[in-house]
Amino acid sequence: MLRHVVTVRDFTPSFLDSVFRSAAASKRQHAGRGRRARVRWSPHWNALRDHVMISLFYEASTRTRHSFEAAMARLGGKVITTENAAEFSSAIKGETLEDSIRIESGYGDVIVLRHKETGAAARAAAVSDVPVINAGDGDGEHPTQALLDLFTIAERFPGRRDLRVTFVGDLLKGRTVHSLAYLAAMLEGTPAGFAGKVNFVAPEIMQIPQPVEGLVRESGLSVALHDGLSPSLVADSDVIYMTRTQSERHDVAAGGDSYALTESLASALHDDAIVLHPLPRNRELPEAIDRLPQARYFEQARNGLFVRMAVLLWVFGELAPPTAAPGGVREERAYA
Ligand code: ASP
Repeated sequence: MLRHVVTVRDFTPSFLDSVFRSAAASKRQHAGRGRRARVRWSPHWNALRDHVMISLFYEASTRTRHSFEAAMARLGGKVITTENAAEFSSAIKGETLEDSIRIESGYGDVIVLRHKETGAAARAAAVSDVPVINAGDGDGEHPTQALLDLFTIAERFPGRRDLRVTFVGDLLKGRTVHSLAYLAAMLEGTPAGFAGKVNFVAPEIMQIPQPVEGLVRESGLSVALHDGLSPSLVADSDVIYMTRTQSERHDVAAGGDSYALTESLASALHDDAIVLHPLPRNRELPEAIDRLPQARYFEQARNGLFVRMAVLLWVFGELAPPTAAPGGVREERAYA
């Protein structure tokens, strides 16, 4: 069976365990690399040398496309890419996504797809002869972003299962929020759970969609909705997950001033808290915040490389199985 990565709902605790262990090992090895070992900084160096990845991006991307491509290159694989498939692929001549995928899956061994339509990755997976990785489908999901978000959270708070996670911004259209909130709900009650309370902070027209909120509530997590950030909410958060206004997906102008994490609000952060952002940012996250020790969004983006290396290894069956080491996740649970 092909190993597609379409939605976080397919993830199991043991999958997360394997991905995070592999990502952490690559990160450690990278940190310790010597001058002569610059390229051999993954335990899996060259593991994918016989594979070709096609990155098919119908929407703009910096981090996702390049971290996937760097990940493939670091694993010894080859990359075929188009940075603007909407304009430079046969989509402009009226070709359907399905036909493009049928063709591309004859050329590559894995397809990394970003598309403006929700559900596009599932449609692609249904007709593809090779694994499809969802690199963001409209306002649906962004599963590998959720993986690197959770990896960054787990790095900072190992073993914690009671975190107060505060999502801020365009929660309606922000696909990264949907994926991470689903993960919080799905993992609740398992050894891989990480959240105790979830706050959704957004202007009313950008509040979290009901199905996502419903799932988080049903999981048993404590949930609260707010229309703005306040010093007490900031002080009571362990993870503040900022997002920009998705102005390309609805008629709300870019900006984010109304829910910005200003310097004065940020002064309420507790010492151990972390501020994340999937990036790119607009005015919701002023550059002045970058110098705070709680700012972890550049580290989060960097983690994307290690996590996506692990995802590619998993897709090709090259990832070590989960260990039963103490602290490892032992309980399996199907989410689909
Ligand atoms: N880069 C993220 C995404 O593709 C977040 C964003 O664009 O706001 O969803």
